[in-house]
Amino acid sequence: MYEGPVQDLIDELGQLPGIGPKSAQRIAFHILAGDGSSIDRLVAALQRVKAEVRFCRICGNVAEQEECRICRDPRRDLSIICVVEESKDVVAIEKTREFRGRYHVLGGAISPIEGIGPDDLRVKELLARLADDAVVELILATDPNLEGEATATYLTRMLKPLGLRITRLASGLPVGGDLEYADEVTLGRAFAGRRTAE
Ligand SMILES: [Zn+2]
Repeated sequence: MYEGPVQDLIDELGQLPGIGPKSAQRIAFHILAGDGSSIDRLVAALQRVKAEVRFCRICGNVAEQEECRICRDPRRDLSIICVVEESKDVVAIEKTREFRGRYHVLGGAISPIEGIGPDDLRVKELLARLADDAVVELILATDPNLEGEATATYLTRMLKPLGLRITRLASGLPVGGDLEYADEVTLGRAFAGRRTAE
């Protein structure tokens, strides 16, 4: 629709999650209207996030060092692991102050439609952590939607023979959405009222 660089920018922005063609166009023209220094800051932030942020070698959460802040914290309870889909879910759960264990970030959820299976998630890494037998409880805190449910069901079936306590968050979370959309109180309650997975 537009010529060269402007269209390239709109196309790139349109690839981002939650950004439709209209938003992409609006953001592109906002960037275009900005001064050089604001563009420099944006470019620098993008480059830094790629260069400096890595994923924790233990839990898969975003980290600035080899291990994330939570895994490095000696006060965290090593006997409980909370399994989530993305790093943003860690942030949402941390805000509730209801959980003092460690996390395991899967990097997504099982989705046959998008061709994402267990092998595309950090399931192997989770199994490796459980082999360490310090863990007595696993909380499955996947999103309350179809993919999240499928992932939790899969993990429950696979991990049950290991004999540890596997729990799910209590109902009451907004169904169909992401974990992060739940407010802190609701999410905190769902945590406190967690039940054994079937
Ligand atoms: Zn970590």
